[in-house]
Amino acid sequence: KGDIIALALRDFKFANEVFGVKTCDRLLKEVAGFLKGLAPTGRVYRFDGDVFCIAEPHGAENTDRLVNLIVDRFKKPWHFQGIDYSLNCSLGVVPMGKGGTETVDEIVSAIDFAIQESKHRENGVVRGGEIFNEKFRRKNHIRAMLAYALEKDGFEVHYQPIYCLATGRFATCEALVRMRDPEFGLIPPDEFIPMAEENGMIVSIGLVVFEKVCQFMTAHPYTEGGFETIGVNLSVVQCMQESLADDLIAVMEHYKLPPGRFKFEITETVAAASMSTLRSTMERLIDYGCAFALDDFGIGYSGVTNMLNLPFKLIKLDKSLTDRLTGEPRTRIAVEAIISLIHRLSMRVIAEGVEVAEEVEILRELGCDYIQGYYFSRPLPEAAFTALVKKTAWR
Ligand code: C2E
Ligand code: MG
Ligand code: MG
Repeated sequence: KGDIIALALRDFKFANEVFGVKTCDRLLKEVAGFLKGLAPTGRVYRFDGDVFCIAEPHGAENTDRLVNLIVDRFKKPWHFQGIDYSLNCSLGVVPMGKGGTETVDEIVSAIDFAIQESKHRENGVVRGGEIFNEKFRRKNHIRAMLAYALEKDGFEVHYQPIYCLATGRFATCEALVRMRDPEFGLIPPDEFIPMAEENGMIVSIGLVVFEKVCQFMTAHPYTEGGFETIGVNLSVVQCMQESLADDLIAVMEHYKLPPGRFKFEITETVAAASMSTLRSTMERLIDYGCAFALDDFGIGYSGVTNMLNLPFKLIKLDKSLTDRLTGEPRTRIAVEAIISLIHRLSMRVIAEGVEVAEEVEILRELGCDYIQGYYFSRPLPEAAFTALVKKTAWR
């Protein structure tokens, strides 16, 4: 029993780039040496890359004392070869043997959770028991329910219509998955997709989603309402599977749906992680007749290279860009240039996360093609989406 003190070096990837791998190895050794000085041998572990753990079997007072010593030590720089190196750390204390920290798997995810939480704290420390909150319980619950949801048809797909500025009507839509939980109701994808990616279940979930989308399209051939196409998100883990193209094609064949109705959305993380598999998957699906959109453009690893190197038909501007359009002249200039660049490369632009009329007007002026956002409609369950399409088809 007792506690585990988890220590994560902050921004260590960045330190690796600035100081070089060799110096950083030395820094890790310095930190490890310091930690070994605090606890007897056999109680200090390297958990992964930049995370260390100390097992403290007696808990409480001893743990507090150790945490304080570590916090104090990190206020001073690490010194070797005549140079000072400043490091920041996040500390999370995980009491073992409580509900949620009984098995090894549970303890490992509790350590991850404690470190994530401590990164949001100003002092960088999450002390004993603090992680046993509603958020921790919810996260564990969702992780445990994933397999159940797969087995019991617990996923549903909502559809968000996307407005075309040129024609003044809805033109396409995006399929967005939710997990239905007996206790918490509808769980948004941001809460369970990262977990499903970690344990590989996303591959099966992705196919379930695609099946549901195809069933929906078979039941409602809305071509006359202007909804010829639909966007379907693919996860980075799905895109690493050699069989992805075959799997998706098999589903489209089964439902006898024309491939031209599908646009697969992928993010830049995908492009960064698995370039060669991704390229052949994209080429196969494009040959078959599908199209691809680059999602969340403008954040994270976004650079123009992926946009240039991979055969996208559409680029989706991330909400963080559209949010800044109102009242920020420099963003407007940047977005205008991005849109014209995309057009000159013969692709189309969808702006994501548009919530107010002013943003719509600016995007219209800047030549944006499509708009997706709460301003026009939230993602809707099947029935509500169907009703909306019927209504707008008359216009
Ligand atoms: P995304 O692909 O960028 O999808 C757009 C997200 O923005 C959706 O969140 C949508 O509800 C939200 N959104 C749309 N308009 C607005 C707006 O005006 N304001 C705000 N605040 N949000 C808006 P959602 O449905 O929670 O999905 C989050 C992310 O989860 C998606 O981001 C996508 O990356 C992922 N995701 C969703 N469904 C799937 C799926 O079937 N498979 C995979 N692999 N990922 C999925
Ligand atoms: Mg998307
Ligand atoms: Mg997006």
